Amino acid sequence: MTGDPTDTPVIVTAGDGFFVRQAIDNMGWCDMGDYVLVVDALEDAPLEDEVMDAIAETTGGKPVKYVLNTHSHYDHVALNGAFVERFGAEIVNQRTTTVDPSGRLFEGADRKVWMIPMPGCHTREDCVIWAPDDRVLFVGDIFGWGLIPSGGLLDAKLRHLLRETYQHLIDFEARVVVPGHGPVCGTPELIRWAEYFDWLLETAGGLVADGKSDDEIKRTVTPPENMLDWWRFVAWKHADALSKVLMSARRGALDA
Ligand SMILES: [Zn+2]
Repeated sequence: MTGDPTDTPVIVTAGDGFFVRQAIDNMGWCDMGDYVLVVDALEDAPLEDEVMDAIAETTGGKPVKYVLNTHSHYDHVALNGAFVERFGAEIVNQRTTTVDPSGRLFEGADRKVWMIPMPGCHTREDCVIWAPDDRVLFVGDIFGWGLIPSGGLLDAKLRHLLRETYQHLIDFEARVVVPGHGPVCGTPELIRWAEYFDWLLETAGGLVADGKSDDEIKRTVTPPENMLDWWRFVAWKHADALSKVLMSARRGALDA
């Protein structure tokens, strides 16, 4: 990969009237026909004018009626207030609202969008946003280009939840997958991530059981060939994922 694809934010067209502002922090919006629906709201409040202009330009100045947050970490909500002020938009996340476990449907004249709770991988409030007509899936920070999304020990319960959630994401068969951060991707990356997760647990966990030291394991368990071009993966995400597995193994969580 030459350079970092997030050095310059770009507006990616994900469908007809459907846009993603791809950067370190991603957000998206779509023209529902009679109004605009926004997903996530960045970390940098000073980007307000730039973002509002981009939305107006691409959607013909229709009002923003809803802002859906995949979760309410600070780097996903900075512009929430601006959307309320300018449009009286409704902010929907699992901190402000209860989203039914089966999901909440947003319908416009031109398309529909589902907000579906998938809690426990990154935060207790995680939701994914699914636009079935466009096959676009916003996964928030559940997929992080090689980051294990949870800080918790990888005991059987958490591993099961993570794997089950990854399978749900894969089963959408999304054409476009929008992570919370970094390049927009697709279902093949979700599949690769689930395989890597299993491989890392098995390989690193097995070496711990064989009595190898962390240093030995870090030298042996190197980033897989077909993930070398993943966003910031070789730089630090593989090492971060591996140390989470090692910490869990050393504390006996992998056997729990
Ligand atoms: Zn987050």
